Amino acid sequence: MDLDNKLYRAFDFNLKPLNPDVTVCEYVWLGSQDMRSKTMVIPKKVTALEDFPNWNYDASSTQQQSLTSNDIVLKPVFKCPDPFRQKNIPNSFLVLCETVEMDLKTPAMNNHRWIANKIIETAKDQRPWFGYEQEYILLKHEGSSFTWPLGFPKGGYPLPQGPYYCSIGAKNAYGRVIPEYHLNACLAAGLTIAGVNAEVFPGQWEYQIGPVEGIGASDQLWMSRYILRRVCEDFDLEVTFEPKPVSGDWNGTGCHANFSSESTRNIGGYDKIVEQMELLSLKHKDHIKVYGANNHLRLSGVHETSSMEKFNYGIANRGCSVRIPAVTVTKRCGYFEDRRPAGNCDPYLVSGMIVDTFCLNGKYGDEVLSSYERVVGKPKTTDAERHSST
Ligand code: ADP
Ligand code: MN
Ligand code: MN
Ligand code: MN
Repeated sequence: MDLDNKLYRAFDFNLKPLNPDVTVCEYVWLGSQDMRSKTMVIPKKVTALEDFPNWNYDASSTQQQSLTSNDIVLKPVFKCPDPFRQKNIPNSFLVLCETVEMDLKTPAMNNHRWIANKIIETAKDQRPWFGYEQEYILLKHEGSSFTWPLGFPKGGYPLPQGPYYCSIGAKNAYGRVIPEYHLNACLAAGLTIAGVNAEVFPGQWEYQIGPVEGIGASDQLWMSRYILRRVCEDFDLEVTFEPKPVSGDWNGTGCHANFSSESTRNIGGYDKIVEQMELLSLKHKDHIKVYGANNHLRLSGVHETSSMEKFNYGIANRGCSVRIPAVTVTKRCGYFEDRRPAGNCDPYLVSGMIVDTFCLNGKYGDEVLSSYERVVGKPKTTDAERHSST
């Protein structure tokens, strides 16, 4: 056990703040490649989201370029009890923030929440619900990096896939303490976690968030990912959401997005889903663009995936882009499952695209793409270039 973990365990002493009203919040945000967080102590009781102040951070340290200065502003958008601090500090919260420029409006690089929110707000009368199935693979510490999946022998491979999915027993189920601790932490945070299972790849697990209406589903998914990474710290493990971390005959990692709207949940819902498949098919390439980096390595048409090139849908078929679950067919209404998103997708981009295509006839699809491309396509501006253009 390393020093960090010993220090962490020290928090188990029953230490309480002398001032019972003090509020401790962990501000969580998306940097350019990774999630980040830092702590703010407020010497009074704060509970309403609008009472959490804006904050800022040094964008030059997160490989994000601000357009106007080094500072990017953190705007709280979602909060929940902090499961890691609850025991000692009752007024403690995890606060998910949107990142914006100093004008408090312009979205910072890699902030796609604003466009998802605009789309979902426009379609809110249609009551869009999401349920995400987040898969992940645990990586263990080898030397100075985290490279090898938990359950893989050092430098070698385990027995072929087959026994690991929903497995029990030390022979096949690796690292159950992680999904178990994560489940507890998500419930303590009040997230709508719907279930957990061991996956097909050894050391791979899945949990589901949802169904939750609107943008909150994606806020919760990001927060659950944050909690998972924090849980893993205690065990000296890392998480990878990469779509195909091990090449060859091994499953990749997805984040299926289950979707419904009022019209699909009610009478005639099944027909409505089938009718809208034409639109999803037309927009296939645009959806794929924003469904996660390196997804082409995963969407090979084998290992329960569909082809990257062609859209198809099927009833209870896990080899399709979209699966209409048997329960939706039997009840003639319900939801459908978009199986294309990769484990590392940004749920804001995914949900924005789905709601736009399904509910708004593709009205804002180009804005989703340009939000995405603004980050990925654009070379970093240097200080010199910025100064010469002003
Ligand atoms: P799978 O059979 O694909 O593994 P799971 O049980 O893992 O399915 O996940 C199903 C997901 O569908 C859950 O996250 C659940 O929240 C979500 N879901 C259920 N009903 C709805 C609905 N009406 N709208 C959106 N999502 C839904
Ligand atoms: Mn599942
Ligand atoms: Mn799965
Ligand atoms: Mn699924």
